[in-house]
Amino acid sequence: MSGKRKRGSTIAVFVMAALFAAILFSGCAATGPATRSADYDVIIIGAGLGGLSAGAHLASNDLKVLVLEQHDKVGGCATRFERGEFTFDASLHEMAGGGPGKNDRGLYQLLHLCGVYDKIEFIPLPDFYRSIFPDIDIMLPPDWEGFKYALKSKWPEEADGIEKFHRLCADTLDDLMELKNLFRYRGAKAFLAKAMVPLRQPTFYRYKDKTLQDVLDDCFTNDDIKAVVSQLWVYYGAPVPEQSALIGLAATETYLGDGVWHIKGTSQALSDAYAERIRELGGEVRTLSKVTRVIMEDGMAAGVEIASGQTFTGRYVVANTDPYQLVFKLVGRDYFPEAYVQNLENLKPANSLFGVYMGLDIDLKAKGYHDVEIFYNTSKDSVVLHDNMMKGDFADGAVAITIYSNMGDPIYAPPGKSVVTLTAYSDYAVWPEDSKAYYAMKDRKVDELVALAANVIPELADPAVVAIKEGFTPRTLKRYTMNRDGVVYGFYLSPDQWQKIPNETPISNLYIASNWSQAWHGMGSAQINGWRAARLIMDREGIE
Ligand SMILES: Cc1cc2nc3c(=O)[nH]c(=O)nc-3n(C[C@H](O)[C@H](O)[C@H](O)COP(=O)(O)OP(=O)(O)OC[C@H]3O[C@@H](n4cnc5c(N)ncnc54)[C@H](O)[C@@H]3O)c2cc1C
Repeated sequence: MSGKRKRGSTIAVFVMAALFAAILFSGCAATGPATRSADYDVIIIGAGLGGLSAGAHLASNDLKVLVLEQHDKVGGCATRFERGEFTFDASLHEMAGGGPGKNDRGLYQLLHLCGVYDKIEFIPLPDFYRSIFPDIDIMLPPDWEGFKYALKSKWPEEADGIEKFHRLCADTLDDLMELKNLFRYRGAKAFLAKAMVPLRQPTFYRYKDKTLQDVLDDCFTNDDIKAVVSQLWVYYGAPVPEQSALIGLAATETYLGDGVWHIKGTSQALSDAYAERIRELGGEVRTLSKVTRVIMEDGMAAGVEIASGQTFTGRYVVANTDPYQLVFKLVGRDYFPEAYVQNLENLKPANSLFGVYMGLDIDLKAKGYHDVEIFYNTSKDSVVLHDNMMKGDFADGAVAITIYSNMGDPIYAPPGKSVVTLTAYSDYAVWPEDSKAYYAMKDRKVDELVALAANVIPELADPAVVAIKEGFTPRTLKRYTMNRDGVVYGFYLSPDQWQKIPNETPISNLYIASNWSQAWHGMGSAQINGWRAARLIMDREGIE
């Protein structure tokens, strides 16, 4: 891979490191098993990928698990639905890190660990993305060699910068992998590991307070290549000059190092595989079970109540919910230290999404559209695009066009037909409360986004071939996930917020397993957050 240099030690650096260590990764430690007697070892609120992953890891280690989900199916964002002869993945475009890439890191390992890997089939996607700007149109392959070749062919003068960018991505993920168990360390071990970060994980340390724009400026001179290389900002919840450098670097390495994947049978197949695994290990997964309250006793979580009034007791509770629902509604803010609540209130959430699910009576591939993931941008300035979309001005924003029927899975559309999804950033606040005004705006904005995407695929705007055209808004996403304002990415990932909040909470037997906690966001990260919450409980139970 890359030639990482370990730097020599100096006393000054060590002292700085110790100071830095005092604040880095600060969590709320709890040790020893929770001993109260209860119906279940662990109750999990929410069957998104975070909750399901937590449940599968815990059940794999002989803990008795109950997962409660408000919706009639498991998966949260990771679900599918049908409209006539078309099938839609509610969310997944591209997943990083799950398939058999380097095989030794991240999600691939976790899926094996909890016995889910053999229940699913990963589909390798043929391309990473096609990036279109007013004067650029470039297709980028899904591996480093192809990615670098495509960039160097277009911008040969940037060859050194392209190699440097690759090294930074690889080194950042290497550093993060070395730190992957840090959240479990306590006392002197934690102190030492944190103190050594500047020496042992220098790339991570150098870029932890930087933005993706800083990385681009370090590597490239040409603004066009910067715009193309950072195109995936639209997946990570913040425009390039405000986005944590770590996210862009690590995620790019996960995609290009380990492969770009989809799941055969849609992301629902992954969610269902988790639920099946939990059940086969003796755990329970109940849908249509909305948790309305965490039952508190002596300052600890003792169980939960669901909407029907039924109660369940558990030694631990894991929340796959957003932390606002957890703190302000399910538990009650008085149970949390004021500093924790203040921190939560000060953190800025990321965006929600607006989009259109489309079924077409034509085969787009047969018409020459071979792409899977296309980004159409009206400007190279990500701040302008971000702000326009968040204002509801989709015509002057960016749109991700995903052609699912080109992924090589026949589930999406019958022969001769196609499934396409359009996605853009959106802010809950721009959508009217009044139903009539909301639906009128939704219809208008659906047509606006379709018109934007029709710059790439004119057939999308042809009523003669469009069989299904259904919009989703932040309000739709809120209804299905219960996330505040329909936010899908947890907290805004600026350099000062990349640590989000720990998987532990100040309530010693209450944990968080959603993308609002520390392992960032996206489907891979949700599953890692689930594992982290499970791992902390297993550590307390003395399970290796
Ligand atoms: C349109 C769209 C496109 C996306 N594209 C991608 C992509 O291409 N690649 C990628 O990696 N990621 C993508 N994502 C993001 C990814 O889907 C999410 O980040 C991830 O699935 C979140 O998982 P989670 O477990 O944290 O939470 P969620 O999926 O939000 O799950 C939370 C679950 O908890 C349940 N719940 C909440 N409160 C309660 C309660 N009180 N009682 C019972 N149940 C409750 C909800 O019903 C839900 O099932 C996309 C998301 C969307 C919406």
